Amino acid sequence: MRNIKNILITGGCGFIGSNFIKFLINQKDFQGKIINLDKLTYAGNIENLKDIANNTRYIFIKGDIGNKKIVNKIFIQYSPDIIINFAAETHVDKSISKPSIFLKTNILGVYNLIQHAKKFWGTNKQKLFYQISTDEVYGSIEKGSFTEESPYQPNNPYSAAKASADHLVMSYFQTYKLPIIISNCSNNYGPYQNREKLIPKIINNILENKKLPTYGDGKNVRDWIFVLDHCKAIWEISKHGKIGEKYNIGGETEIKNIDLVNIICEIIAKKYKKQKNYYKNLITFVKDRKGHDKRYSINCEKLKKEFGWEKKYNFNKGIDYTIQWYLQQKK
Ligand code: NAD
Repeated sequence: MRNIKNILITGGCGFIGSNFIKFLINQKDFQGKIINLDKLTYAGNIENLKDIANNTRYIFIKGDIGNKKIVNKIFIQYSPDIIINFAAETHVDKSISKPSIFLKTNILGVYNLIQHAKKFWGTNKQKLFYQISTDEVYGSIEKGSFTEESPYQPNNPYSAAKASADHLVMSYFQTYKLPIIISNCSNNYGPYQNREKLIPKIINNILENKKLPTYGDGKNVRDWIFVLDHCKAIWEISKHGKIGEKYNIGGETEIKNIDLVNIICEIIAKKYKKQKNYYKNLITFVKDRKGHDKRYSINCEKLKKEFGWEKKYNFNKGIDYTIQWYLQQKK
């Protein structure tokens, strides 16, 4: 088990990062400091962490992962044992209309972090640079599931930038023996997600009686995992993961987009005591996203075998909790 004192989390004010920080600060086997470096883009919300803002083990630093001075100073001041890099531009549609910031943050930002890790850590195996990545790097699959050995075939600028970063991070292991790990996870759902993303958007639009835009024929398939199951997997990998390895993380819950929208409509209808199909007339099919991958599917047997990881939240329980959480925010 890795001896982890101080952890640098980047992008900790975003969806998964803020869930992870709240999860981590309550872990009995972690008593160190959490340094959260976040640029606070439109997707970052400092309010996500207001409950722990005064905790003496938590330090927030506003800044860009691509900023050499800030990253250098963090290494000198806090000597992190691990960096978990959540920071990224993450909205696929935005990457299609304006890719440049995706290349800057998702590739050059990561380059700046690993350059500093190499400078301060060298080949020290007690340290870890942990890159949080996505199943989207593998591209679309008709049958079967992606394993850690599947080749990368990204089809949009977001996934191409994430794939580039994964390759760069792996090359620092192969070339310089920098201690790294990469994990690739499927679609997360849960509290604290920016309202531009699919699930919060559908919930908000229902509440505001707006159309529910659904791409193409709605038959694209995504695998969904509750965010805290992802957080648990990240913590296991941080403590026990092998240097230079990749790990897939998934919820083993593949759902067509249209089915997901229907499920959300039905749950909200039930909560507001409406007829089952009451909100479904808001569903509107819109022109398909360019380069839209048909199906993602992830094989996470390696994670299960090596760490005994199992998801705790089945989809019905997790989506119900999630919807309830967003409805509460609206009150
Ligand atoms: P998010 O968009 O909700 O949050 C990203 C965070 O990074 C924000 O707080 C933002 O302010 C910060 N940030 C952006 N650019 C930055 C920069 N240059 N410097 C410092 N901070 C910066 O994203 P998320 O959904 O929480 O995803 C987190 C990570 O997990 C990403 O790397 C993403 O690729 C990966 N991932 C996400 C999912 C998912 O379903 N959301 C699935 C698999 C992998």
